[in-house]
Amino acid sequence: MALLRIAQIKQLASHGCRFYSASAPTTKMFINGKFVESKTDRWIDLHNPATNEVITRVPQCTQEEMQSAVDVSAEAFKSWSQSTVLTRQQCMFKFQQLIKDNLKEIAKLITLEQGKTLVDAEGDVMRGLQVVEHCCSITSLQLGETMSSIAKDMDTYTVRLPLGVCAGITPFNFPAMIPLWMFPTALITGNTMVVKPSERDPGAVMFMMQLLQDAGFPDGTVNVIHGAHDAVNFICDNPTIKAISFVGSDQAGTYIYERGSKNGKRVQSNMGAKNHGVIMPDANKENTLNQLVGAAFGAAGQRCMALSTAVFVGEAKEWIPELVEKARKLKVNAGHEPDADLGPLISPAAKNRVLELVQSGVDQGAELLLDGRNVKVPGYDKGNFVGPTILHKVKSDMKCYEEEIFGPVLVSMEVDTLDEAIDVVNKNKYGNGTAIFTSNGAVARKYTMESDVGQVGVNVPIPVPLPMFSFTGSRGSFMGDANFYGKQGINFYTQIKTVTQMWRDEDATVTKPAVSMPV
Ligand code: NAD
Repeated sequence: MALLRIAQIKQLASHGCRFYSASAPTTKMFINGKFVESKTDRWIDLHNPATNEVITRVPQCTQEEMQSAVDVSAEAFKSWSQSTVLTRQQCMFKFQQLIKDNLKEIAKLITLEQGKTLVDAEGDVMRGLQVVEHCCSITSLQLGETMSSIAKDMDTYTVRLPLGVCAGITPFNFPAMIPLWMFPTALITGNTMVVKPSERDPGAVMFMMQLLQDAGFPDGTVNVIHGAHDAVNFICDNPTIKAISFVGSDQAGTYIYERGSKNGKRVQSNMGAKNHGVIMPDANKENTLNQLVGAAFGAAGQRCMALSTAVFVGEAKEWIPELVEKARKLKVNAGHEPDADLGPLISPAAKNRVLELVQSGVDQGAELLLDGRNVKVPGYDKGNFVGPTILHKVKSDMKCYEEEIFGPVLVSMEVDTLDEAIDVVNKNKYGNGTAIFTSNGAVARKYTMESDVGQVGVNVPIPVPLPMFSFTGSRGSFMGDANFYGKQGINFYTQIKTVTQMWRDEDATVTKPAVSMPV
Protein backbone atom coordinates (compact mmCIF):
# COMPACT_ATOMS: atom_id res chain seq x y z
CA MET A 1 0.00 0.00 0.00
CA ALA A 2 1.31 3.42 -0.90
CA LEU A 3 2.74 5.27 2.07
CA LEU A 4 0.39 8.06 2.99
CA ARG A 5 1.77 11.52 2.61
CA ILE A 6 0.49 12.44 6.08
CA ALA A 7 2.68 9.78 7.66
CA GLN A 8 5.68 10.92 5.67
CA ILE A 9 5.31 14.51 6.59
CA LYS A 10 4.88 13.75 10.27
CA GLN A 11 8.09 11.76 10.04
CA LEU A 12 9.84 14.60 8.21
CA ALA A 13 8.59 17.17 10.65
CA SER A 14 9.73 15.14 13.64
CA HIS A 15 13.21 14.93 12.12
CA GLY A 16 13.31 18.70 11.74
CA CYS A 17 15.80 20.05 9.26
CA ARG A 18 18.33 17.31 9.85
CA PHE A 19 16.44 14.77 7.78
CA TYR A 20 18.63 13.06 5.19
CA SER A 21 17.30 10.66 2.65
CA ALA A 22 19.03 8.93 -0.22
CA SER A 23 15.75 8.57 -2.06
CA ALA A 24 13.44 11.43 -1.15
CA PRO A 25 9.78 10.49 -0.71
CA THR A 26 7.27 11.75 -3.19
CA THR A 27 4.38 14.11 -2.62
CA LYS A 28 1.10 12.47 -3.50
CA MET A 29 -1.94 13.91 -5.21
CA PHE A 30 -5.22 13.95 -3.27
CA ILE A 31 -8.03 12.67 -5.45
CA ASN A 32 -11.45 11.54 -4.33
CA GLY A 33 -10.42 11.34 -0.69
CA LYS A 34 -7.25 9.33 -1.31
CA PHE A 35 -3.54 10.12 -1.43
CA VAL A 36 -2.49 8.87 -4.85
CA GLU A 37 0.95 8.51 -6.42
CA SER A 38 1.33 10.31 -9.74
CA LYS A 39 2.30 8.32 -12.80
CA THR A 40 4.17 11.25 -14.28
CA ASP A 41 7.79 11.10 -15.34
CA ARG A 42 8.32 14.79 -14.55
CA TRP A 43 9.19 15.66 -10.97
CA ILE A 44 10.30 18.81 -9.16
CA ASP A 45 12.80 18.39 -6.32
CA LEU A 46 11.75 20.27 -3.20
CA HIS A 47 14.67 21.47 -1.06
CA ASN A 48 14.86 22.45 2.57
CA PRO A 49 15.81 26.14 2.19
CA ALA A 50 18.08 26.00 5.26
CA THR A 51 20.23 23.15 3.95
CA ASN A 52 19.27 22.66 0.31
CA GLU A 53 18.78 18.95 0.88
CA VAL A 54 16.03 17.36 -1.20
CA ILE A 55 13.18 16.43 1.13
CA THR A 56 10.50 15.37 -1.31
CA ARG A 57 9.77 15.22 -5.02
CA VAL A 58 6.66 16.97 -6.29
CA PRO A 59 4.99 15.56 -9.41
CA GLN A 60 4.02 17.54 -12.46
CA CYS A 61 0.72 15.76 -12.84
CA THR A 62 -0.32 14.37 -16.19
CA GLN A 63 -3.27 15.79 -18.13
CA GLU A 64 -5.26 12.63 -17.34
CA GLU A 65 -4.61 13.00 -13.62
CA MET A 66 -5.65 16.66 -13.64
CA GLN A 67 -8.76 15.82 -15.65
CA SER A 68 -9.66 13.10 -13.17
CA ALA A 69 -9.40 15.66 -10.33
CA VAL A 70 -11.86 17.90 -12.18
CA ASP A 71 -14.21 15.01 -12.98
CA VAL A 72 -14.26 13.91 -9.36
CA SER A 73 -14.89 17.50 -8.22
CA ALA A 74 -17.78 17.83 -10.68
CA GLU A 75 -19.31 14.58 -9.45
CA ALA A 76 -18.93 15.61 -5.81
CA PHE A 77 -20.54 18.97 -6.58
CA LYS A 78 -23.81 17.27 -7.48
CA SER A 79 -24.45 16.18 -3.91
CA TRP A 80 -22.33 18.70 -1.96
CA SER A 81 -24.16 21.64 -3.53
CA GLN A 82 -27.42 20.09 -2.32
CA SER A 83 -26.19 19.45 1.23
CA THR A 84 -27.76 21.52 3.98
CA VAL A 85 -26.00 24.56 5.26
CA LEU A 86 -25.94 22.97 8.72
CA THR A 87 -24.18 19.87 7.38
CA ARG A 88 -21.49 22.02 5.83
CA GLN A 89 -21.21 24.08 8.98
CA GLN A 90 -20.76 20.99 11.18
CA CYS A 91 -17.92 19.73 8.96
CA MET A 92 -16.30 23.16 9.16
CA PHE A 93 -16.54 23.19 12.97
CA LYS A 94 -14.70 19.87 13.06
CA PHE A 95 -12.08 21.04 10.55
CA GLN A 96 -11.49 24.14 12.65
CA GLN A 97 -10.83 22.03 15.75
CA LEU A 98 -8.55 19.65 13.87
CA ILE A 99 -6.42 22.52 12.59
CA LYS A 100 -6.07 23.78 16.17
CA ASP A 101 -5.12 20.30 17.37
CA ASN A 102 -2.49 19.94 14.64
CA LEU A 103 -1.27 23.51 14.44
CA LYS A 104 2.24 22.78 15.65
CA GLU A 105 2.67 19.84 13.29
CA ILE A 106 1.57 21.91 10.31
CA ALA A 107 3.92 24.70 11.41
CA LYS A 108 6.89 22.31 11.61
CA LEU A 109 6.19 21.18 8.11
CA ILE A 110 6.01 24.76 6.85
CA THR A 111 9.37 25.52 8.44
CA LEU A 112 10.87 22.44 6.86
CA GLU A 113 9.67 23.17 3.34
CA GLN A 114 9.43 26.97 3.33
CA GLY A 115 12.11 28.01 5.83
CA LYS A 116 10.27 30.56 7.99
CA THR A 117 10.68 30.43 11.78
CA LEU A 118 8.46 28.07 13.73
CA VAL A 119 6.65 30.86 15.54
CA ASP A 120 6.03 32.63 12.25
CA ALA A 121 4.82 29.36 10.71
CA GLU A 122 2.33 29.01 13.57
CA GLY A 123 1.11 32.51 12.71
CA ASP A 124 0.73 31.38 9.09
CA VAL A 125 -1.62 28.60 10.22
CA MET A 126 -3.42 30.81 12.75
CA ARG A 127 -4.29 33.47 10.19
CA GLY A 128 -5.73 30.80 7.91
CA LEU A 129 -7.58 29.24 10.82
CA GLN A 130 -9.33 32.57 11.39
CA VAL A 131 -10.83 32.30 7.90
CA VAL A 132 -12.06 28.80 8.74
CA GLU A 133 -13.61 30.15 11.93
CA HIS A 134 -15.31 32.90 10.01
CA CYS A 135 -16.66 30.35 7.53
CA CYS A 136 -18.40 28.68 10.46
CA SER A 137 -20.78 31.65 10.57
CA ILE A 138 -22.09 30.75 7.13
CA THR A 139 -25.64 30.64 8.50
CA SER A 140 -25.50 34.44 8.51
CA LEU A 141 -23.03 35.00 5.70
CA GLN A 142 -24.92 33.27 2.90
CA LEU A 143 -28.27 34.88 3.63
CA GLY A 144 -30.13 36.27 0.66
CA GLU A 145 -32.43 39.29 0.59
CA THR A 146 -36.21 39.54 0.59
CA MET A 147 -38.68 42.23 -0.34
CA SER A 148 -42.31 41.44 0.15
CA SER A 149 -45.20 43.09 -1.74
CA ILE A 150 -43.17 44.53 -4.58
CA ALA A 151 -46.48 44.37 -6.47
CA LYS A 152 -49.88 43.12 -5.47
CA ASP A 153 -49.50 39.57 -4.07
CA MET A 154 -45.95 39.53 -5.31
CA ASP A 155 -42.64 39.08 -3.43
CA THR A 156 -39.02 38.96 -4.56
CA TYR A 157 -36.15 37.18 -2.83
CA THR A 158 -32.59 36.25 -3.64
CA VAL A 159 -30.55 33.16 -2.85
CA ARG A 160 -26.77 32.83 -3.00
CA LEU A 161 -25.87 29.64 -4.83
CA PRO A 162 -22.50 27.95 -5.40
CA LEU A 163 -20.75 28.24 -8.76
CA GLY A 164 -19.60 24.66 -9.30
CA VAL A 165 -16.01 23.44 -9.52
CA CYS A 166 -13.58 26.18 -8.49
CA ALA A 167 -9.77 26.16 -8.56
CA GLY A 168 -7.14 27.62 -6.24
CA ILE A 169 -3.54 28.38 -7.27
CA THR A 170 -1.31 29.38 -4.37
CA PRO A 171 2.16 30.91 -3.76
CA PHE A 172 5.02 29.58 -1.65
CA ASN A 173 5.15 32.24 1.03
CA PHE A 174 2.06 31.32 3.09
CA PRO A 175 1.63 27.58 2.51
CA ALA A 176 -1.25 27.29 5.00
CA MET A 177 -2.89 30.71 5.23
CA ILE A 178 -3.47 31.33 1.55
CA PRO A 179 -4.92 27.91 0.68
CA LEU A 180 -7.15 28.48 3.73
CA TRP A 181 -8.37 31.72 2.18
CA MET A 182 -9.64 29.58 -0.69
CA PHE A 183 -10.95 26.06 -0.15
CA PRO A 184 -12.85 26.62 3.14
CA THR A 185 -14.77 29.54 1.61
CA ALA A 186 -15.42 27.57 -1.56
CA LEU A 187 -16.60 24.53 0.41
CA ILE A 188 -18.81 26.29 2.92
CA THR A 189 -20.75 27.96 0.12
CA GLY A 190 -21.38 24.58 -1.53
CA ASN A 191 -18.69 24.50 -4.20
CA THR A 192 -16.04 21.89 -4.77
CA MET A 193 -12.42 22.76 -5.51
CA VAL A 194 -9.25 21.68 -7.26
CA VAL A 195 -6.22 23.09 -5.44
CA LYS A 196 -2.82 23.50 -7.05
CA PRO A 197 -0.51 24.45 -4.20
CA SER A 198 2.89 25.99 -4.78
CA GLU A 199 5.20 23.32 -6.11
CA ARG A 200 7.78 24.67 -3.68
CA ASP A 201 5.94 23.77 -0.45
CA PRO A 202 2.73 21.76 -0.89
CA GLY A 203 3.13 19.85 2.42
CA ALA A 204 0.82 22.02 4.53
CA VAL A 205 -2.01 21.61 2.01
CA MET A 206 -1.51 17.85 1.95
CA PHE A 207 -1.60 17.70 5.73
CA MET A 208 -4.83 19.69 5.76
CA MET A 209 -6.41 17.30 3.24
CA GLN A 210 -6.16 14.55 5.82
CA LEU A 211 -7.82 16.88 8.33
CA LEU A 212 -10.62 17.67 5.86
CA GLN A 213 -11.19 13.98 5.45
CA ASP A 214 -11.22 13.45 9.22
CA ALA A 215 -13.67 16.36 9.59
CA GLY A 216 -16.18 14.52 7.42
CA PHE A 217 -16.05 16.47 4.17
CA PRO A 218 -17.17 13.98 1.51
CA ASP A 219 -14.65 12.44 -0.88
CA GLY A 220 -14.00 14.60 -3.93
CA THR A 221 -15.05 17.92 -2.45
CA VAL A 222 -11.42 19.09 -2.53
CA ASN A 223 -8.83 17.54 -4.81
CA VAL A 224 -5.15 18.44 -5.02
CA ILE A 225 -3.04 18.37 -8.16
CA HIS A 226 0.58 19.43 -8.51
CA GLY A 227 2.71 21.08 -11.11
CA ALA A 228 3.72 24.44 -12.48
CA HIS A 229 2.87 26.12 -15.79
CA ASP A 230 1.11 23.15 -17.40
CA ALA A 231 -1.14 22.72 -14.37
CA VAL A 232 -1.95 26.43 -14.42
CA ASN A 233 -2.79 26.33 -18.14
CA PHE A 234 -4.95 23.28 -17.57
CA ILE A 235 -6.93 25.13 -14.89
CA CYS A 236 -7.31 28.29 -17.01
CA ASP A 237 -8.59 26.31 -20.00
CA ASN A 238 -10.71 23.59 -18.41
CA PRO A 239 -14.37 24.26 -19.28
CA THR A 240 -15.73 22.61 -16.11
CA ILE A 241 -13.87 25.02 -13.81
CA LYS A 242 -16.03 28.07 -13.15
CA ALA A 243 -13.78 30.26 -11.02
CA ILE A 244 -10.09 30.68 -10.19
CA SER A 245 -8.60 32.12 -7.03
CA PHE A 246 -4.95 33.05 -7.53
CA VAL A 247 -2.35 34.53 -5.20
CA GLY A 248 1.25 35.03 -6.32
CA SER A 249 3.49 37.15 -8.50
CA ASP A 250 2.42 39.82 -11.02
CA GLN A 251 3.63 37.80 -13.94
CA ALA A 252 1.61 34.70 -13.11
CA GLY A 253 -1.36 36.68 -11.77
CA THR A 254 -1.81 38.82 -14.86
CA TYR A 255 -1.45 35.79 -17.09
CA ILE A 256 -3.97 33.72 -15.13
CA TYR A 257 -6.44 36.60 -14.86
CA GLU A 258 -6.32 37.19 -18.62
CA ARG A 259 -6.38 33.56 -19.71
CA GLY A 260 -9.00 32.53 -17.16
CA SER A 261 -11.28 35.51 -17.89
CA LYS A 262 -10.99 34.97 -21.63
CA ASN A 263 -12.31 31.48 -21.04
CA GLY A 264 -15.34 32.91 -19.24
CA LYS A 265 -14.24 32.19 -15.69
CA ARG A 266 -14.60 34.38 -12.64
CA VAL A 267 -11.04 35.20 -11.49
CA GLN A 268 -9.66 36.92 -8.39
CA SER A 269 -5.93 37.58 -8.52
CA ASN A 270 -3.85 38.92 -5.63
CA MET A 271 -0.38 39.89 -6.78
CA GLY A 272 2.85 41.63 -5.78
CA ALA A 273 3.43 44.64 -3.61
CA LYS A 274 5.74 47.40 -2.49
CA ASN A 275 4.40 48.56 0.85
CA HIS A 276 5.45 51.93 2.25
CA GLY A 277 5.70 52.85 5.90
CA VAL A 278 5.51 56.63 6.35
CA ILE A 279 7.27 57.79 9.52
CA MET A 280 6.25 61.17 10.93
CA PRO A 281 8.56 62.94 13.40
CA ASP A 282 5.74 63.05 15.99
CA ALA A 283 5.44 59.24 16.13
CA ASN A 284 6.36 57.18 19.18
CA LYS A 285 9.96 56.46 18.19
CA GLU A 286 10.56 53.17 20.01
CA ASN A 287 7.25 51.70 18.91
CA THR A 288 7.72 52.82 15.32
CA LEU A 289 11.26 51.52 14.90
CA ASN A 290 10.38 48.14 16.41
CA GLN A 291 7.33 47.86 14.16
CA LEU A 292 9.35 48.80 11.10
CA VAL A 293 12.08 46.27 11.79
CA GLY A 294 9.60 43.47 12.46
CA ALA A 295 7.54 44.23 9.37
CA ALA A 296 10.50 44.67 7.03
CA PHE A 297 12.57 41.65 8.05
CA GLY A 298 10.07 39.16 9.53
CA ALA A 299 9.66 36.05 7.37
CA ALA A 300 12.89 37.22 5.66
CA GLY A 301 10.80 39.83 3.88
CA GLN A 302 8.85 37.16 2.00
CA ARG A 303 5.42 38.57 2.81
CA CYS A 304 3.22 40.39 0.36
CA MET A 305 2.45 42.80 3.22
CA ALA A 306 6.08 43.23 4.31
CA LEU A 307 6.78 46.90 4.96
CA SER A 308 9.62 47.03 2.47
CA THR A 309 9.93 50.81 1.96
CA ALA A 310 10.39 53.34 4.77
CA VAL A 311 9.60 56.97 3.98
CA PHE A 312 11.03 59.25 6.66
CA VAL A 313 9.31 62.64 6.82
CA GLY A 314 11.36 65.65 7.99
CA GLU A 315 13.27 65.15 11.22
CA ALA A 316 12.20 61.52 11.53
CA LYS A 317 15.29 60.76 9.41
CA GLU A 318 17.40 61.27 12.54
CA TRP A 319 16.11 57.91 13.80
CA ILE A 320 17.72 55.98 10.97
CA PRO A 321 20.95 55.03 12.84
CA GLU A 322 18.82 53.49 15.62
CA LEU A 323 16.78 51.60 13.05
CA VAL A 324 19.98 50.17 11.61
CA GLU A 325 21.17 49.03 15.05
CA LYS A 326 17.88 47.29 15.78
CA ALA A 327 17.97 45.50 12.43
CA ARG A 328 21.61 44.47 12.94
CA LYS A 329 20.66 42.65 16.15
CA LEU A 330 18.22 40.28 14.46
CA LYS A 331 19.36 36.68 14.45
CA VAL A 332 19.49 34.87 11.12
CA ASN A 333 19.22 31.11 11.52
CA ALA A 334 17.42 28.01 10.30
CA GLY A 335 13.72 28.44 11.02
CA HIS A 336 13.48 25.61 13.53
CA GLU A 337 16.33 26.95 15.69
CA PRO A 338 14.78 28.61 18.73
CA ASP A 339 16.76 31.86 18.46
CA ALA A 340 15.93 32.51 14.78
CA ASP A 341 14.35 35.88 14.00
CA LEU A 342 14.48 35.26 10.27
CA GLY A 343 15.14 32.14 8.26
CA PRO A 344 16.41 31.53 4.74
CA LEU A 345 14.93 32.57 1.42
CA ILE A 346 12.96 29.96 -0.49
CA SER A 347 15.65 29.09 -3.08
CA PRO A 348 19.17 29.90 -4.27
CA ALA A 349 17.56 31.69 -7.25
CA ALA A 350 15.51 33.89 -4.91
CA LYS A 351 18.67 34.68 -2.95
CA ASN A 352 20.61 35.60 -6.09
CA ARG A 353 17.80 37.85 -7.24
CA VAL A 354 17.81 39.68 -3.91
CA LEU A 355 21.60 40.08 -4.02
CA GLU A 356 21.40 41.47 -7.54
CA LEU A 357 18.73 43.99 -6.57
CA VAL A 358 20.79 45.15 -3.58
CA GLN A 359 23.82 45.58 -5.85
CA SER A 360 21.73 47.50 -8.36
CA GLY A 361 20.77 49.91 -5.57
CA VAL A 362 24.41 50.42 -4.66
CA ASP A 363 25.32 50.91 -8.33
CA GLN A 364 22.57 53.48 -8.76
CA GLY A 365 23.77 55.54 -5.80
CA ALA A 366 21.85 54.31 -2.74
CA GLU A 367 23.71 54.16 0.59
CA LEU A 368 24.12 50.63 1.95
CA LEU A 369 23.64 51.22 5.68
CA LEU A 370 23.40 47.53 6.58
CA ASP A 371 24.73 44.75 4.37
CA GLY A 372 23.38 41.25 5.01
CA ARG A 373 24.68 39.75 1.80
CA ASN A 374 27.53 37.77 3.32
CA VAL A 375 25.79 36.53 6.41
CA LYS A 376 27.18 33.23 7.74
CA VAL A 377 24.92 30.81 9.59
CA PRO A 378 26.99 28.19 11.45
CA GLY A 379 25.85 24.65 10.65
CA TYR A 380 23.87 25.77 7.61
CA ASP A 381 26.53 26.74 5.09
CA LYS A 382 24.37 25.72 2.15
CA GLY A 383 21.21 27.58 3.17
CA ASN A 384 19.75 30.49 1.19
CA PHE A 385 20.38 33.07 3.89
CA VAL A 386 20.48 36.85 3.52
CA GLY A 387 20.75 39.04 6.61
CA PRO A 388 18.82 42.26 7.21
CA THR A 389 19.89 44.84 4.66
CA ILE A 390 19.07 48.54 4.51
CA LEU A 391 19.48 50.73 1.43
CA HIS A 392 19.07 54.41 2.17
CA LYS A 393 18.54 57.54 0.04
CA VAL A 394 16.76 55.38 -2.49
CA LYS A 395 15.05 57.24 -5.35
CA SER A 396 11.88 56.13 -7.05
CA ASP A 397 13.62 55.53 -10.39
CA MET A 398 16.03 52.98 -8.92
CA LYS A 399 15.49 49.32 -9.80
CA CYS A 400 15.57 48.31 -6.11
CA TYR A 401 12.53 50.58 -5.61
CA GLU A 402 10.66 49.74 -8.79
CA GLU A 403 10.77 45.97 -8.22
CA GLU A 404 9.36 43.94 -5.38
CA ILE A 405 12.51 42.56 -3.72
CA PHE A 406 10.80 39.86 -1.61
CA GLY A 407 13.77 39.50 0.73
CA PRO A 408 15.01 41.00 4.01
CA VAL A 409 15.82 44.34 2.41
CA LEU A 410 14.40 47.66 3.56
CA VAL A 411 14.67 50.52 1.08
CA SER A 412 14.54 53.88 2.77
CA MET A 413 13.73 57.36 1.48
CA GLU A 414 13.69 60.88 2.87
CA VAL A 415 11.04 63.53 2.11
CA ASP A 416 10.25 66.89 3.67
CA THR A 417 6.46 66.79 3.98
CA LEU A 418 3.50 64.46 4.35
CA ASP A 419 2.23 65.56 0.93
CA GLU A 420 5.50 64.47 -0.65
CA ALA A 421 5.22 61.10 1.10
CA ILE A 422 1.68 60.62 -0.20
CA ASP A 423 2.89 61.53 -3.67
CA VAL A 424 5.60 58.86 -3.54
CA VAL A 425 3.14 56.21 -2.35
CA ASN A 426 0.50 57.07 -4.95
CA LYS A 427 2.98 57.08 -7.83
CA ASN A 428 4.01 53.54 -7.00
CA LYS A 429 2.15 51.01 -9.16
CA TYR A 430 1.17 48.76 -6.25
CA GLY A 431 -1.70 49.24 -3.81
CA ASN A 432 -1.50 46.30 -1.42
CA GLY A 433 -0.78 47.87 1.97
CA THR A 434 0.74 50.87 3.67
CA ALA A 435 1.19 52.26 7.17
CA ILE A 436 1.64 55.64 8.76
CA PHE A 437 3.30 56.14 12.14
CA THR A 438 2.15 59.30 13.90
CA SER A 439 0.60 60.61 17.11
CA ASN A 440 -1.47 63.20 15.24
CA GLY A 441 -5.03 62.16 14.36
CA ALA A 442 -5.44 64.77 11.64
CA VAL A 443 -2.26 63.58 9.93
CA ALA A 444 -3.39 59.97 10.20
CA ARG A 445 -6.79 60.81 8.77
CA LYS A 446 -5.33 62.76 5.86
CA TYR A 447 -3.03 59.85 5.07
CA THR A 448 -5.75 57.22 5.23
CA MET A 449 -8.02 59.30 2.98
CA GLU A 450 -5.42 60.43 0.42
CA SER A 451 -3.17 57.37 0.03
CA ASP A 452 -4.37 55.29 -2.91
CA VAL A 453 -3.73 51.93 -1.27
CA GLY A 454 -6.24 49.22 -0.44
CA GLN A 455 -5.17 48.45 3.15
CA VAL A 456 -3.91 51.17 5.49
CA GLY A 457 -2.46 50.82 8.98
CA VAL A 458 -2.25 53.66 11.46
CA ASN A 459 0.54 52.73 13.87
CA VAL A 460 -0.08 49.18 12.62
CA PRO A 461 2.69 48.01 10.31
CA ILE A 462 1.06 45.03 8.57
CA PRO A 463 -2.64 45.85 8.34
CA VAL A 464 -3.94 42.50 7.08
CA PRO A 465 -7.66 42.58 7.91
CA LEU A 466 -9.29 39.84 9.96
CA PRO A 467 -11.86 37.80 8.02
CA MET A 468 -14.94 39.68 9.17
CA PHE A 469 -13.41 42.13 6.66
CA SER A 470 -11.74 41.21 3.37
CA PHE A 471 -8.19 41.43 1.99
CA THR A 472 -8.57 44.55 -0.10
CA GLY A 473 -5.29 45.18 -1.90
CA SER A 474 -5.84 47.44 -4.90
CA ARG A 475 -4.32 48.87 -8.11
CA GLY A 476 -1.33 46.80 -9.33
CA SER A 477 -1.71 44.35 -6.44
CA PHE A 478 -5.14 43.02 -7.47
CA MET A 479 -7.16 42.05 -10.51
CA GLY A 480 -10.81 41.11 -10.26
CA ASP A 481 -13.76 42.63 -8.48
CA ALA A 482 -14.39 40.46 -5.42
CA ASN A 483 -11.57 40.22 -2.90
CA PHE A 484 -10.48 37.27 -0.78
CA TYR A 485 -12.33 36.09 2.34
CA GLY A 486 -14.95 37.88 4.44
CA LYS A 487 -18.13 39.04 2.72
CA GLN A 488 -16.22 39.63 -0.50
CA GLY A 489 -15.02 36.03 -0.47
CA ILE A 490 -18.59 34.78 -0.05
CA ASN A 491 -19.57 36.98 -3.00
CA PHE A 492 -16.77 35.56 -5.12
CA TYR A 493 -17.81 31.96 -4.56
CA THR A 494 -21.55 32.47 -5.00
CA GLN A 495 -23.92 33.64 -7.69
CA ILE A 496 -27.23 35.27 -6.97
CA LYS A 497 -30.53 33.88 -8.12
CA THR A 498 -33.50 36.24 -7.85
CA VAL A 499 -36.98 34.79 -7.53
CA THR A 500 -40.15 36.79 -8.09
CA GLN A 501 -43.30 34.97 -7.03
CA MET A 502 -46.99 35.69 -7.01
CA TRP A 503 -49.44 33.87 -4.73
CA ARG A 504 -52.99 35.03 -5.22
CA ASP A 505 -56.45 33.88 -4.18
CA GLU A 506 -58.31 31.95 -6.85
CA ASP A 507 -60.89 34.76 -6.97
CA ALA A 508 -58.22 37.13 -8.14
CA THR A 509 -56.82 34.90 -10.91
CA VAL A 510 -55.48 36.77 -13.97
CA THR A 511 -58.30 36.68 -16.49
CA LYS A 512 -56.72 37.89 -19.71
CA PRO A 513 -53.20 38.11 -21.21
CA ALA A 514 -51.23 41.28 -20.45
CA VAL A 515 -48.96 42.10 -23.38
CA SER A 516 -47.46 45.34 -22.16
CA MET A 517 -44.33 45.51 -19.96
CA PRO A 518 -45.38 44.91 -16.34
CA VAL A 519 -44.65 47.95 -14.17
P1 NAD B 1 4.52 32.73 -8.22
O1 NAD B 1 3.70 33.58 -9.07
O2 NAD B 1 5.87 32.34 -8.67
O3 NAD B 1 3.74 31.35 -7.93
C1 NAD B 1 2.36 31.34 -7.56
C2 NAD B 1 1.67 30.20 -8.28
O4 NAD B 1 1.65 30.47 -9.68
C3 NAD B 1 2.36 28.88 -8.08
O5 NAD B 1 1.38 27.91 -7.81
C4 NAD B 1 3.08 28.64 -9.39
O6 NAD B 1 3.12 27.28 -9.74
C5 NAD B 1 2.30 29.43 -10.41
N1 NAD B 1 3.17 30.09 -11.40
C6 NAD B 1 4.38 30.64 -11.20
N2 NAD B 1 4.84 31.23 -12.32
C7 NAD B 1 3.90 31.06 -13.25
C8 NAD B 1 3.77 31.47 -14.61
N3 NAD B 1 4.74 32.17 -15.22
N4 NAD B 1 2.67 31.14 -15.26
C9 NAD B 1 1.70 30.46 -14.66
N5 NAD B 1 1.76 30.05 -13.36
C10 NAD B 1 2.84 30.34 -12.67
O7 NAD B 1 4.58 33.41 -6.77
P2 NAD B 1 5.46 32.98 -5.55
O8 NAD B 1 6.88 33.30 -5.83
O9 NAD B 1 5.12 31.61 -5.14
O10 NAD B 1 4.90 33.97 -4.43
C11 NAD B 1 5.44 35.23 -4.18
C12 NAD B 1 4.62 36.32 -4.83
O11 NAD B 1 3.28 36.24 -4.38
C13 NAD B 1 5.08 37.73 -4.45
O12 NAD B 1 5.02 38.54 -5.57
C14 NAD B 1 4.08 38.17 -3.40
O13 NAD B 1 3.91 39.55 -3.28
C15 NAD B 1 2.84 37.52 -3.94
N6 NAD B 1 1.85 37.37 -2.89
C16 NAD B 1 0.78 38.21 -2.92
C17 NAD B 1 -0.17 38.14 -1.91
C18 NAD B 1 -1.34 39.06 -1.91
O14 NAD B 1 -2.31 38.75 -1.22
N7 NAD B 1 -1.31 40.14 -2.66
C19 NAD B 1 -0.02 37.20 -0.88
C20 NAD B 1 1.09 36.36 -0.90
C21 NAD B 1 2.02 36.45 -1.92
